[in-house]
Amino acid sequence: MLHRITARPRSWALLFFGSLILLTVLAFYLSSNKEQPEPEQPPEMSEVLEALEATDFHNALIPPLSPPPNWEQYTLQKGDRLSLLWADKWHLPLATLYTLLDNKEGKRHLNRIQPGQHIEWLASRDGQLLALRLWQSRAEGSEWLRENTGFSFRNLTSQREVKLIRLTGTLKGVLVNSLQNMPEIAGQEGVIATALDRHLPLRRDARDGDTFSLLVEQEWLSNDPTPYSTRLIAFDYTGDRMQVRAARHQDGRFYTPEGFSLIPPFDRIPLAERYRISSRFNLNRKHPITGRVQPHYGTDFATPTGTHVRAPADGRVTRSQWHPFAGNYLVIDHGQGFETRYLHLSRSQVKSGQDVKRGQLIGQTGNTGRSTGPHLHYELHISGRPVDAMRAELPSVEKLKGADLKEFLAQSKQLFAGLDGKLALKKLALSLPESR
Ligand SMILES: [Zn+2]
Repeated sequence: MLHRITARPRSWALLFFGSLILLTVLAFYLSSNKEQPEPEQPPEMSEVLEALEATDFHNALIPPLSPPPNWEQYTLQKGDRLSLLWADKWHLPLATLYTLLDNKEGKRHLNRIQPGQHIEWLASRDGQLLALRLWQSRAEGSEWLRENTGFSFRNLTSQREVKLIRLTGTLKGVLVNSLQNMPEIAGQEGVIATALDRHLPLRRDARDGDTFSLLVEQEWLSNDPTPYSTRLIAFDYTGDRMQVRAARHQDGRFYTPEGFSLIPPFDRIPLAERYRISSRFNLNRKHPITGRVQPHYGTDFATPTGTHVRAPADGRVTRSQWHPFAGNYLVIDHGQGFETRYLHLSRSQVKSGQDVKRGQLIGQTGNTGRSTGPHLHYELHISGRPVDAMRAELPSVEKLKGADLKEFLAQSKQLFAGLDGKLALKKLALSLPESR
């Protein structure tokens, strides 16, 4: 921070540091005098500094693109609105949708979406759209690809092919090794292992000799032999310390045969009460000085130091450590691709590897690391991408209900039959509705 400021004229620096010291003394005096309220308006310079600090360190905590991003997909349902799906469910920047709608192909195809049409997209780790496909039918689609300047467009002439595969095996070492020598998924072992790992606490509870069966759906274009999408749709894992059986529902989450969610319900904020949000999640935030786009991957709550931070959902602490920019910080894995992060804590109350319950005290907010004022920087990641925790659709029910449950039970019955080898996969593929 210092070298940035010394680049400016010395008299300016003197004036700045002088006033900073004065303000600090004043703030100290005011806070030590209990009758006086705290100064309400921070000086303008501190806001600039706050914006500066908030932009740098998050990138240091976001790991590089590994494993490579996977295609996501959705079949349009009756009553869907593209802009709502885009921002709240798919966590893509709305500005990108407006860019696509701003030319004639976009207007023609994206303005007239119909229930039953299939949409697929590829996004980078930091949430930018890389590619988008809209299928009007199995054989007719539109594709947008990100280029250096904007997006290119083409009509897809090849067919979209879908195939179901059943894999069974015994665990020996790590899962990805147990998936070797299965020619039907050559090159896709990593994707499948990552998918299963997301739904099961494999790393801790898996043992050699455990058995598994997986039902996997692959998609490819008829003119390209490499599948572009490989996804898990049902699995059964039977081990010494763990037995889980679940199928994917149309909301993209996994449920047990009885309809219980594998992911715990979530609170919106990890604090017992509401505090002012001093900085929102913003993928397109411009740096106040350089003008460069530097995303803010979290939500900042202006909390006094020592405010209790509570786990928003059950999970396991995967990191509890120190970082020069993030200060004391925590990472919690909630399963199913949900992860939360807490930065600048004054104290951490949990250790790496520890299980936590929803509502449990996990630490106290503070001002550690590169931070100019006490606050909590809170991040939510879904499937490896940071999303706006204040807007994201959060899991709220532990068990499916009503028509949703009925639909899941009917569909998963077929999926489990396929998984157990009691229903031919070709037959299963035909019995599944097109809109899944
Ligand atoms: Zn922040």
